Amino acid sequence: MIPNRLHRDVTGGFPWEVHVTPEDSYDYVGYTVLFCVTFQIIARQVALVALGPSSPKRGVAPRVAVKLVSVLFDTIAVLGGIKHLLFPDASVVEDPIYGFSPHSQFHFSVAAGYFAWAAVVSAIYRGSKVSIFHHIICCMVYLGTLSPFMHGVGNIYLLFQASTLIIDCYSCGKLLTNRKTPTNMSLKYIHPFVFVLVRIVIGLPLSVKFLYDMSVLLSSGAAKNPPLVYFFVVVNLAINALNTYWAIGMALGIHRGMKPACSVTSESDEGSEKKVNFFDISFNISFGDRGHKRLRTAKKSNPAYDNTSPAFSLPVAIVALCSFLAKSITNKEDMLSLKDDAGAIVEVLKVPALVGAAAYSLFKIFSYFGSEIFDEAKYDQKGDGHLYTRIRGQWYDLAKFQHPGGPVALNLAKGRDGTALFESHHYLMSHKALYGVLNKYKVDAEVAKTIKTIDPRDDGAHYVWDKYEEDPFTVDIKKMIVDHFKPIAKARGITLREATKATPQRWLMILSLMAAFFATIPYFVAGRWWTLIATPQLAWVIIANYWHDGLHFSMSCDWRVNAILPYLFPWLSSPWMWYHQHVIGHHAYTNVDHKDPDLAHAPQLMREHKSVKWRPAHKRQHGFSFYFVWSVAAGLGLQVLSDVRANLKGTYNNVVPYAKLSPARLYAHTLGRLFYACSLFVWPWFVFPAWKALIWCIIPISTFSWSFMLNSQINHLTEHCAHASSPHFLRHQVLTAQDFGVGRSWCQFFSGGLNQQIEHHMFPCVNHCHLPDLAPKVKALCEKHGVKYNEVRGYREALKTHLKHTEAMGVRPFSVGHEH
Ligand SMILES: [Zn+2]
Repeated sequence: MIPNRLHRDVTGGFPWEVHVTPEDSYDYVGYTVLFCVTFQIIARQVALVALGPSSPKRGVAPRVAVKLVSVLFDTIAVLGGIKHLLFPDASVVEDPIYGFSPHSQFHFSVAAGYFAWAAVVSAIYRGSKVSIFHHIICCMVYLGTLSPFMHGVGNIYLLFQASTLIIDCYSCGKLLTNRKTPTNMSLKYIHPFVFVLVRIVIGLPLSVKFLYDMSVLLSSGAAKNPPLVYFFVVVNLAINALNTYWAIGMALGIHRGMKPACSVTSESDEGSEKKVNFFDISFNISFGDRGHKRLRTAKKSNPAYDNTSPAFSLPVAIVALCSFLAKSITNKEDMLSLKDDAGAIVEVLKVPALVGAAAYSLFKIFSYFGSEIFDEAKYDQKGDGHLYTRIRGQWYDLAKFQHPGGPVALNLAKGRDGTALFESHHYLMSHKALYGVLNKYKVDAEVAKTIKTIDPRDDGAHYVWDKYEEDPFTVDIKKMIVDHFKPIAKARGITLREATKATPQRWLMILSLMAAFFATIPYFVAGRWWTLIATPQLAWVIIANYWHDGLHFSMSCDWRVNAILPYLFPWLSSPWMWYHQHVIGHHAYTNVDHKDPDLAHAPQLMREHKSVKWRPAHKRQHGFSFYFVWSVAAGLGLQVLSDVRANLKGTYNNVVPYAKLSPARLYAHTLGRLFYACSLFVWPWFVFPAWKALIWCIIPISTFSWSFMLNSQINHLTEHCAHASSPHFLRHQVLTAQDFGVGRSWCQFFSGGLNQQIEHHMFPCVNHCHLPDLAPKVKALCEKHGVKYNEVRGYREALKTHLKHTEAMGVRPFSVGHEH
């Protein structure tokens, strides 16, 4: 436990001092890194909230956050240095080189952690190479002192941070306020004096003494680790050379100009171009002030500022919290029989490492043998060698077509009327170009007469496609989406299609979330109570943010990534079934009776659409049935009942035609289902007593199911959307969906972007990370064309609209005899 380590000094010293033993010190390095990250994120979010969404200074928030962490560290370092100068520990007075001071150990651990964080941050924010190198060396120096080594004089070097503290305070003030406030100006003038005091007046004589001591140590043969001593000598010489160089520069600057040389004057300060002076130390050893120009002109386009989005910081904060949690709950009596904390960390890291290795091997195996088993992963079909699909009444054979979106997408249209699927996935290309490609694969009229869809009801009805591409709404929407992504593609140097997929930030967020999820697995298996909620909710957030996107082909332009990654998280549905339920059924024919399987998941208990025959049981559907159905929808409904029925009856929920699987594919599918069942419902009985096993089988999947239902039902099944309809495909997609909490980061994060349901249904293969920027444009076009745009504020309001609808649908209709 962390608190046990925080021994108060009982023999003297200050009451707030933290004393660290050599064994604990590496933990403190880790804690410091996590603390810096967490503090940085919180500070940035606070700054963003304080500045407001439209402030032109928004771009400085990440920089201020970094500066604040530096100020905090500098302060701790300086205090440590002063304390040591005034009240040194007896042990280090006796032996300045190998004497051990628990107080110094704390400061050195913190310094090592801080500089490790600083090196990464300087790299991310495009700091100068000098600054990155400087931070790495500092980190190594302080790691070297943890052995323990140099506690006698080491703390004095922490005093060097005093001048950095002033520069960092100055930078903070300059970023946040008017650049010429009296405080800022005085800091600017104080800096050279403090610099000379700590780095030259105190630093130089100490360094000379240090070098003398080291030469004595090395020649006497008493050095415990000679390479370390040499390293320190070299670093010491380099730092003193640099300090002297800077000091001379400052002195010369004072001579030459009327301003102090350390000034970080730039174009923005004086209104005239001024060459950046090497002696402006904040440009070199501190982060951030290098980019004045970028700061002002490129608030959004500078990639370093992309991370301003809260979507990035949230998962990092979660990972940091999970790591703290995982660390603090680990003790020697742990059910995982982890010997110590360091072992626990290794164990926790082992899981994501193993999963990563397994995923990579699976990827490799799949690329070799996958197409032999997974029919849908092949272009050229086994058996008849044809891939027939019907688009606007014309049959095409796409078996030989090297589809840029991959064979899986093509196979979804096999044997179907693929018009809605085709039109809804190709909005970046002109209609003429699209049909130009298709026309090469036209089927002869004679042959066409002999082909039928796998289910005669699959006739492409409901939509009118004639002149669809000439409709002003279609034209405006298509133009808007291309105009939106063109500049993004250009700025990032990628293709238009690539620009619509997941950004690096989105990937980072998903990978962090996955790491956090897998890190909870050992504790889930060990029966920790907190995992009953944390593990399934993490699974939900991951599935919402990547799984659903992958199965919509919107994670990557590499179809294999989209197709394979979802198999890593099969806890909502089998990916193959999901294509049928969600992409082919729900998205193509949203809320259309006898076409959308989401209207017919549990007709015996729930009636959300007038096409479902009313039964007396529906009277109570906003009460017990609602809770029951929401609890079992994912675990029992999607995963088991709908799946088995589809494979037995050849139709999903009696509305989506489903082609029989080949024997090899059916085996693979069944194995996947067995893995799912074991991962949730089997193992607990071997590990826990029966009562606990029962809890472990019910609670996680139910809470997961609730999150799924909450985020999927409130978007379509409301009074305004449930029975809305239009023969025009895009209008229909807008009318039958409801947005909620647009612009609220929590809604965006927890729903994985499902809160922008209208935009998602219009552009299913645009990754959800782009939808917040598209929403206002879509809304404006809907207003222009008089298409009703359903939108509510947040979860609470959205749920209210859904419950109101559910209650209304439970009332016995007047004309019950005529309902089908
Ligand atoms: Zn979807």
